[in-house]
Amino acid sequence: MDDCVRVLLELLATPSPSGFTDRALASVEAELEVLGVKPRRTRKGALLWTLPGEGGAPRAVSSHIDTLGAMVKEIKASGRLKLSPIGGYDWATIEGAECEVHTESGTSISGTVVNTKQSTHVHGQELRDLKRDAGVMEVRLDIEAGSPDAVRAAGVEVGDVVSFDSRPRATESGFVKGRHLDNKAAVALALAVTRAFLAARRAPEGDVHFFVSNYEEVGHGAATGIPADVAELLCVDMAAVGEGQTSTEYDVTLCVKDSGGPYDYGMNRRLRGLAREHGIPLKIDVYPFYASDATAAWRAGGNHRAALIGPGVDASHSFERTHRRALEHTAALLEAYLLAPVGA
Ligand SMILES: [Zn+2]
Repeated sequence: MDDCVRVLLELLATPSPSGFTDRALASVEAELEVLGVKPRRTRKGALLWTLPGEGGAPRAVSSHIDTLGAMVKEIKASGRLKLSPIGGYDWATIEGAECEVHTESGTSISGTVVNTKQSTHVHGQELRDLKRDAGVMEVRLDIEAGSPDAVRAAGVEVGDVVSFDSRPRATESGFVKGRHLDNKAAVALALAVTRAFLAARRAPEGDVHFFVSNYEEVGHGAATGIPADVAELLCVDMAAVGEGQTSTEYDVTLCVKDSGGPYDYGMNRRLRGLAREHGIPLKIDVYPFYASDATAAWRAGGNHRAALIGPGVDASHSFERTHRRALEHTAALLEAYLLAPVGA
C-alpha cells in the first residue's frame, strides 16, 4: 500500500483536467515501464494495458485520470480571468484554490481563485451575502498585469487550461487528502493491483484490460476504448460519502445504483459474495447525483455486464479525503474479483 500511496501523491501533484491529461498519463506509463508492462494509447488518448490471464473470459477494469478544472473564458479589463468550468462542481468549492494557468507555449502561471468582493475590509456584509457563481469568481494571476494586454503579453489567452492545485498530503493517521482523489485513487489502485499480480507471479482468471479514461468528468470517457471482447467492465471510482450514505472513508463500496440507473445484478451479487468470502467489509450504496464511466460505456453501446466499486471519498469534488484502509479494501476486492471466474 505504500507504493500505492506514493503513486497517488505523485499523480495528485500532476495537473490533469479533462482534455489536458498527457503529463499525468505519461507518469502512469513510466510506472508501467518499471513493471515491464507495455501500455497503449487509444486514438482518443486513453491508456490501456493488459494483464494476461489463464484463459477465462476477458474483462476490463476502468479508472479515470482526468479531473475537474476550468478554462479561461474571458480576460477581464482588470486583468483577472473569468472561468468556464470543466466538470461538475460548485463554485464555492474552488474559492481560495491555488491554480495554474497552462499557456499554449507550454509554460504555466500560478494564481489564486478569488471572488470579486473577497476583501472583508472593503466589502463587509456584501462578501458574506455574495452568491458564488461564474460572474463573481475569478483568477488573480501572480504577475503584475492589470490589463488584458499585459495578461496576453504574459502568454495567457482565452481557452487556456486552468488546473486547481490538489495540495496532496498523507497524514500519520492514515488519511490521504487533496483535490482529485476522484479518481486518481483508482488509477493508483489499478497500478498497485497490476504490481501485486506481477510480483506474486500470479495470473488473473481471464485477460484483464486496465483502461484509464481521460474524459470521465465530462461524461464520455469510456464511451469508446473498452475492448469489444470483454464480458464485464468493473469500473473503479470514488464512493460518495455523506449524510444518508452507507459509504465511509475507511471502506470499499459497491454502488448498486446511481443517476445512470442500476448496475448488473449478477455481477453485484458475485462481488458481494467475494467480499464475504475474503472477509472484506463491503458497503452497499446508492449515489444520488453520480455518473460513472460504466454508464458512459453502456450508453455508447457497450455489450458487457458492468459494476462499480470504489474507496469512500469525503467531500467529493471539493476538499477530498480518504483513508488507506479504503484503498486496501478496494485493492483486496479487485484482486479477488480478478481471480474468480466471471458469471455465465
Ligand atoms: Zn470519478
